[in-house]
Amino acid sequence: MSDLLRQLVEMSRYLGDPSRTYAILGEGNSSARIDSDTFYVKASGTTLSTIDESGFVAVSIPKVMGILEDESAGDDEVTQVLKDALVDAKEKRRPSVETMLHAFLLTIPEYKFIGHTHPTFTNMLLCSKHSREACAGRIFPDHIVSMGHRSVFVPYVDPGLVLAREVKRQFERFVEAEGVLPKAILMQNHGLITMGDSPKAVTSCTDMTEKVSQIIVGTYALGGPNFMSEKDVARIHTRPDEHYRIKSIAG
Ligand SMILES: [Zn+2]
Repeated sequence: MSDLLRQLVEMSRYLGDPSRTYAILGEGNSSARIDSDTFYVKASGTTLSTIDESGFVAVSIPKVMGILEDESAGDDEVTQVLKDALVDAKEKRRPSVETMLHAFLLTIPEYKFIGHTHPTFTNMLLCSKHSREACAGRIFPDHIVSMGHRSVFVPYVDPGLVLAREVKRQFERFVEAEGVLPKAILMQNHGLITMGDSPKAVTSCTDMTEKVSQIIVGTYALGGPNFMSEKDVARIHTRPDEHYRIKSIAG
C-alpha cells in the first residue's frame, strides 16, 4: 500500500470511529490527491470505520470536472462520467456519489486531503431553523485557530452534481470576499467538509467543528451564542503566535 493510501485509510477510520459519532453505516466520504490529475476517493457502499485500501478507487480530476461546467448534464451523465473517470478501466466498484465535490476541492493545490462527515452536533446546527446564524460566528480563540475566521455555508440542494456545483459557487464567492482559503464547508441539512494539506489538518478541523457545535447547541439553552466581535476575531486570525499554533495543530 502506498504511503498516501495508508494515510487516507488512517484518516478515514479516525473520522468513522463510532466513538466520535461523525459518521455511521455508509455515511461520509474521504479523498486524497495522488497528483495534479488523479485522486483516491471512497468507493460507494463502503464504511469509513472499517475501510481499508480496497475501499478507495482512483479517479481522474479533469474527467470529473468536465461535468461541473456542463449545464445540460443530469443523472444519466453523472453515472457515465463517474464510470469513465476511473483510472483503471477494469475497476468494478463505483466512486462515491460525492466524488464531484471532492474533485473540485482537490483542484486547489493547498488541499491534499478531504474529509466529509455528518457529525451529530454539527448537524444539530445545520438541520435547525437557525442554521445560517448558528454557523456564522466564532465563539472562542481556538475556534478561529482550527476553523479559520469564517466558514463556507452552503444552502440545501440536491446531493451529487447539483451540490458539487453549489459548493463550487459558494467556495469561489467566499475566496473572492475573504481573500483566504476556507478550512471548513458547512452544508445545510447535510453535513461538514474539512480540507487540508495533511490528514491531521482534516481531522483536527472536524474535531473542533464538532466541539464548537456542541457548545453552540448548549448556548441556545442560555439565550444563544455570544459571538466574538469582528475585531476580536480578526485579531486572533492575524496574530503571529496564533499562526504558529495553527501550523502545529495542522501537523
Ligand atoms: Zn454526506
